[in-house]
Amino acid sequence: MPALRWGLIGASDIAATRVIDAIRSSGGTVTGVFSGSSDRARDFAKVHGLPNATTDLDELLGWEIDAVYISSTNDKHFDQACRALKAGKHVLCEKPLALDAGEAASMVKLADQQGLILAANHHLPGSPLHTKVRELVNAGAIGAVLSAKVAHAVLLPERLRGWRLGQGTPGSGVILDITCHDASVLNPLLGEPVAVSAVAVQQADWNTGGQEDAAMTVIRYERQGHPPVLAQTHDSFTVGFAQTSLEVHGTEGTIHVVDAMTQDTEGQVVLTNGAGSRTVDVDCSQDLYVIALKAFTAAVNGTGAPTATGKDGLMALKVALAAQESALSGRTVHLI
Ligand code: NDP
Repeated sequence: MPALRWGLIGASDIAATRVIDAIRSSGGTVTGVFSGSSDRARDFAKVHGLPNATTDLDELLGWEIDAVYISSTNDKHFDQACRALKAGKHVLCEKPLALDAGEAASMVKLADQQGLILAANHHLPGSPLHTKVRELVNAGAIGAVLSAKVAHAVLLPERLRGWRLGQGTPGSGVILDITCHDASVLNPLLGEPVAVSAVAVQQADWNTGGQEDAAMTVIRYERQGHPPVLAQTHDSFTVGFAQTSLEVHGTEGTIHVVDAMTQDTEGQVVLTNGAGSRTVDVDCSQDLYVIALKAFTAAVNGTGAPTATGKDGLMALKVALAAQESALSGRTVHLI
């Protein structure tokens, strides 16, 4: 499989802590980084052994690269992705793809027109845990699905408490940050999200930014020939000692995934039905970001598909935006 040459757009924490290593593990090379600050670009390139650093996005797009990884703040994704696609580069873009569903839809359309791969870097749908849950559900292991519950309440590390909490910062808040990830898991599992209702609050005394840091959301899913499904999510920046999980309940059984929503997953899938409870074998040895980068590389090479396509990223964004709107208005938001 030919390796990809990458340019990084954004000197970010997630690029530094996860994605540069994942690119290299997928066989790719990183040609350089773009940042809004020349000092940060230079320092970042030095620390991570990148040959080039620039504050000029057109310069990066002129390098001999096949793809860009965009991990700037959320308000910049749309413009940077469109410029990269127009320059003929494949794009792996961080979630949320954009701040507006219309913008995300136009990114998907542009990638199609250009014949390029656009993927959202949702790390969870490609997790072996979630792949196994989809396999079990599609094989009828729990009968008809009735409901699902995601526990994704975590404590936001201090180093990430900047733009995520600012009320005036576009793209901030726990819903765009975490509910978006939940939707990337629930959408391919449960069908079409049709209605969303959410309540969000501000809880932490260290959250002086004014943006919501905890939210509970209910989503109604529909799929032809199946009963409607209710899914519930609990997303938080404020809970320090909870385990993440996913439960899926059906007419013939229940699947419980322990540690389902973390970045370093060594979780467990337990299937319970009339025959009792059993742990299902899942190989969790591979890093989730490496899985995503390998899948993206395969997609570019025409031998596979991204773990979350641009369209998947758009659908996850639609759910998150509906949850945000519902939390603000106090009303259920209908997606169709
Ligand atoms: P960071 O705050 O680390 O980086 C975002 C941007 O902030 C960078 O592009 C950089 O701008 C700027 N920045 C970084 N450090 C500094 C600094 N010390 N001083 C001033 N500006 C700085 O964000 P994250 O890495 O946490 O998130 C980036 C993106 O990745 C977001 O879209 C987020 O939603 C997503 N994300 C996805 C995850 C996943 O699992 N898929 C996990 C975590 C984040 P510049 O572009 O100018 O270099």
